[in-house]
Amino acid sequence: MNEPKPLLSVAEALAFLLSSARKITVTQTLSTLEANGRILAVAQSSQLDVPPVDNTSMDGYAVRAADCVSGAAVLRVSQRIPAGHVGQPLEAGCAARIFTGAMIPQGADAVVMQEVCVASKEGADDLVTVKHAPQSGEWIRRAGEDIRAGSEILHAGQRLRAQEIGLAASVGLATLPVVRKLRVAVFFTGDELAMPGDVLKPGAIYNSNKFTLRGLLENLGCDITDYGIVPDTLAATRDTLRRAAAEHDLIITSGGVSVGEEDHIKPAVEAEGHLNMWQIAVKPGKPLAFGEVYRAEKSGKENDTAFFLGLPGNPVSSFVTFLLFVRPFILRLQGVQDVAPRAYAMRADFNLPKGDRRNEFLRAKINTEGGLDLFPNQSSGVLTSTVWGDGLIDNPPGRAIAQGDIVRFISFSDLMH
Ligand code: AMP
Ligand code: MG
Repeated sequence: MNEPKPLLSVAEALAFLLSSARKITVTQTLSTLEANGRILAVAQSSQLDVPPVDNTSMDGYAVRAADCVSGAAVLRVSQRIPAGHVGQPLEAGCAARIFTGAMIPQGADAVVMQEVCVASKEGADDLVTVKHAPQSGEWIRRAGEDIRAGSEILHAGQRLRAQEIGLAASVGLATLPVVRKLRVAVFFTGDELAMPGDVLKPGAIYNSNKFTLRGLLENLGCDITDYGIVPDTLAATRDTLRRAAAEHDLIITSGGVSVGEEDHIKPAVEAEGHLNMWQIAVKPGKPLAFGEVYRAEKSGKENDTAFFLGLPGNPVSSFVTFLLFVRPFILRLQGVQDVAPRAYAMRADFNLPKGDRRNEFLRAKINTEGGLDLFPNQSSGVLTSTVWGDGLIDNPPGRAIAQGDIVRFISFSDLMH
């Protein structure tokens, strides 16, 4: 009889994956706008202070605070400074009409907002009564308040979202160096698989994993090649692996990694490279295959391989396994350091009388009371749970949950990029 292999913990499997990941070193320079969604390859610093000079954050009057201590000072309006214009030095006893974003004139040390000022005329002179005694510095945005010249604003391995490209633009960066997109090949095993649009024959199911996995890969900014449903023969599987390895960084498959299954994934990868078949103490998604496929047949050249990850076929297993293992691996290949998703301590508004022996990732939803509800059917084939849920409860092996307990919750939205 076969001894059951000891199960790997989630942390052990992840640590092995991350230590195997080879970062992509090829970079490209894109316009800052095109860099949206990409991974920054080289840290960026600002050459200038932001804002570049002291400026007003209000429409009003630039004054010398010392001229306004009475709370009813009458000043001569000596100039008008719209945003983008440079004023003259402000003489004592004078005010400058000024508009949000305009540079504070030399000599002024405060801005009084127009709501507490009354404008009047005396002959040809414009006057203003300032009915407020401002503090020195009031309504002034200081040069360098946001960013100091020379400081790092973005670090290597950071994903560039709208905020990051906006920040880069705010210091005048017209282009950004980014990591080349990861090239990922996918294919699907299982003679039962049919495509949406086909009529389902008896015993067939639709290939939903293709859509879930491709969607997840697209969210992570990968270039995807889809080899479709590969016939369940050793020759076809080996041939697809060899073709995929030639032009991709990573090959991902779904199905056929369960123990004892009559399947060609294992022998095919072993013939074209090498493979670890893991049993992980995780639910859903116990089996996971990780290996490498040689690029040139046994060239022996070091690192001349494509990585291989074989996911379980059950739709929820395949989804969760991707989020737990494939996503961090892909991020690390792209040079992202911090690959762990944020976890929140949240209240369980349900009972789970018996914890599973494996580390379970339960589909749950945030309710309007700020607690978590559990999807009633946690079976690994029930894809509905992933659509109903807002995320996963990371429940340690053997832990029962009682209503009111604090659990670790990971939001799907934090796992989609
Ligand atoms: P396997 O991992 O190949 O043993 O498959 C486990 C279960 O997942 C079986 O019920 C398969 O029919 C189902 N399955 C496998 N591949 C897919 C797929 N691409 N889409 C949806 N279900 C799948
Ligand atoms: Mg199968």
